[in-house]
Amino acid sequence: MTDTITTVEMDGEFRICPACGYEDGFHSMFRGGPARLQWLFICPACHQIFDIGLTVPGPGMDR
Ligand SMILES: [Zn+2]
Repeated sequence: MTDTITTVEMDGEFRICPACGYEDGFHSMFRGGPARLQWLFICPACHQIFDIGLTVPGPGMDR
């Protein structure tokens, strides 16, 4: 499965889907690890995946 991930420049708020205009926010997904995960957002309407530049510590941190 190949996903297309669209990089988005955050401008105060990330709520409206830039691809389809859906206005009620996003589902989350995480990718990578074990030290660091990309926090990605999926539009529930058109299923596009967006990266706003967030990462979180992975489950392997500090072990
Ligand atoms: Zn959408």
